[in-house]
Amino acid sequence: MKKYQLFIDGKFVDSESGECRPVINPATEEPIATVPVAQKGDAKRAIEAARKSFDSRSWSGMDVRERAKILMRVVDKLRSRQEELATIESAESGATIRMTSMMEIPIGIEHFKALVELGERIPAYEPLPWIDMPAVSWNFVNREPIGVCAGIVPWNLPFMIMAWKVAPALIMGNSMVLKPSTDTPLTALELAATAAECGLPPGVLNVVTGSGPVVGEELCANPMVDKIAFTGSTQTGKRVMKLGADTIKKVTLELGGKSPTIICDDADLSIAVDGALFGTFFHAGQFCESGTRCFVPASIYDTFMAQLAERVGHIKLGDTADYETTMGPVVSKAQLARVLGYIETGRKEGARLVCGGGRPPELSKGWFVQPTVFEEVPNSATIAREEIFGPVLTVIRYKNVDDAIAMANDSVYGLGGAVFSRDVPKAITIAKRIRTGTVWVNDFHLVNALAPFGGYKQSGVGRELGPHGLLEYTQVKHIHVDLGLQRSQKFWYDYIFND
Ligand code: NDP
Repeated sequence: MKKYQLFIDGKFVDSESGECRPVINPATEEPIATVPVAQKGDAKRAIEAARKSFDSRSWSGMDVRERAKILMRVVDKLRSRQEELATIESAESGATIRMTSMMEIPIGIEHFKALVELGERIPAYEPLPWIDMPAVSWNFVNREPIGVCAGIVPWNLPFMIMAWKVAPALIMGNSMVLKPSTDTPLTALELAATAAECGLPPGVLNVVTGSGPVVGEELCANPMVDKIAFTGSTQTGKRVMKLGADTIKKVTLELGGKSPTIICDDADLSIAVDGALFGTFFHAGQFCESGTRCFVPASIYDTFMAQLAERVGHIKLGDTADYETTMGPVVSKAQLARVLGYIETGRKEGARLVCGGGRPPELSKGWFVQPTVFEEVPNSATIAREEIFGPVLTVIRYKNVDDAIAMANDSVYGLGGAVFSRDVPKAITIAKRIRTGTVWVNDFHLVNALAPFGGYKQSGVGRELGPHGLLEYTQVKHIHVDLGLQRSQKFWYDYIFND
């Protein structure tokens, strides 16, 4: 079993305490590796290394084209390790090998590449209009890195979410300390090893494995950290924002969701039914933007539900290393208890169970939950309001589109959503009225590296991906060059001098 170490200042090192913990495969409940349990002192060492690298300008002062060359070497190396990374990611997160090898790892690497290429093209200088009032001057904006960034990553898509933070932070010239989730720390350490092999200067990327309340809180509160990029639950996001407030850190938060899927009565049902299922059950519902509230019109309700129940029967749970398996377990025993608790609440609150509703009896090991569909769920029910983060779909009947949009927007969350209709202009009109950061039309989950991703309301602050996401890792400086070269032209100095 592989024993991993922390990655600090360009080297793999043990934690100060020497304590380690096992990483468990959620499908087998067996340990697959060990990682250090870092303490605050380890986090401080990593922050100091990042600070030193940033202040030395070994990376932040390098021409962006040189930074891009090194990061593209990282991309090439990651591509050559794609299969190995997919196997590690599947084993630590419980995602099926089908998903990690065909989607998460290759797309994560492509997103990394696209963000590096886009970052390279962001102009370092922006001209301002000619200014001659109160005096003739030349003005421009200099775009600069922020400094030391903390990247805090959850367990649901560890590699991809890490790529969304590391690539923009680094191409824009920052240094970073990454804290992966306690449950899924391995691909972060593998990325650090790859980056070091490709010539990334020491201290630019550091990885510290340890718990949120210990390592995560140190990263959020330490005065040497300038920015926090956090993905995780809304509850923890609130804590992160509060911790960052004392030192006025720039904070971007990508948080929870309860995304609506609005099926229109003119939808192509072969696309809409599978779209609703893909939106909810892909990766056992462990996506922040999962479409867990599905709004279906009364006119097609029975047909839709019959097809939905039939299609759920095709989802195959089991060995995540087998390419035939289409849905894995949830990430941990704690998450299993949480999801089963919500299913119980749904039953108690009177929702009608269409299928699923518990653990699959045929699987004796692993934290699996059957794909579960509830119907006749009022939008006020607990399972329609709270983020479950498991394979649980709530179907809500609606009378007309205005009614569906009102219910879709009646949520504290605002991350994603979808509209299914053959009438694309109508679908776009509905999409514009949904108060979320992303709306897919006739699809779900297809996050685009060049488009901003993030939430309205309690789903987050700021954006990841695309130019909007890259700019979150920069700050702007106004440089004013006064063109009055004679002392006599500077009449404003005389406001404080009499002569
Ligand atoms: P958290 O939000 O607690 O964890 C996300 C990351 O934050 C992890 O790296 C975690 O570390 C870290 N963290 C935890 N506490 C702190 C803290 N006080 N300060 C700084 N960092 C911290 O999510 P959970 O894993 O606890 O999952 C709980 C629920 O959150 C899920 O059921 C789901 O509803 C939601 N969730 C949403 C995600 C999203 O993408 N929107 C992703 C994951 C979960 P550690 O792993 O050590 O706790």
